[in-house]
Amino acid sequence: MPVPCVTGRGRLSKLHKPLKGALALTDIFREVRERLNMEDVARHYGHEPNRAGFLCCPFHRGDRTASLKLYPGGRGWHCFGCNRGGSVIDFVALDLGLSPLDAVKRLNTDFALGLPIDRQQTPAERREAEQAAQRRREVADTYRAFEQWRTDTINRLNACFRGAHLLQISSLDRLTEREALALREQATVEYFSDLLSFGTLAEQVAVFRDRKEVEILCNRILPSTPMKSDVA
Ligand SMILES: [Zn+2]
Repeated sequence: MPVPCVTGRGRLSKLHKPLKGALALTDIFREVRERLNMEDVARHYGHEPNRAGFLCCPFHRGDRTASLKLYPGGRGWHCFGCNRGGSVIDFVALDLGLSPLDAVKRLNTDFALGLPIDRQQTPAERREAEQAAQRRREVADTYRAFEQWRTDTINRLNACFRGAHLLQISSLDRLTEREALALREQATVEYFSDLLSFGTLAEQVAVFRDRKEVEILCNRILPSTPMKSDVA
């Protein structure tokens, strides 16, 4: 069963809809933010981050401790010294003393982004931009569905684990089949729960691929599920 993917056009997509061939400025700004890597941009304009992605803040005096953090994946930057922060566009605007729009134009030129800022979008560019926006929506929807599955599954696994834990400190005679199973599988349940809660994304996805096994295990342990899953 694949992760459900809702592809309907949301309210936001209407707000960003380009007007007859022209790319809306909000789209241009978003494209610049999403396409550029904060560290590459900082380096291009002469700022060298350390290995942790921090650099000496050029926007406040005497920063000797490298208090400006550059974040990966279009998340911009923040200075813990002067509390300034923002996107890659804000960084360049502040650094070069430009308005945000001029910073966008400068980035468009310096990084050869080819965004149609002062001209109409060609039909091919418009199609490509719409497809890219659609792909972004699909990725976001898939990620939301995955996060929902992950939260639900962690809750169910933790319910299994709590049940087994309570059994250990009470009387162990007269265990039902479910309770005996919960005790027997306690380590497995904890293992899956830990991977989903604290594992890397790759580990979480590995559990998602084996989700049938996890679902069967939870169904067999949790008493609220139909008895017929006992034979699964
Ligand atoms: Zn600063």
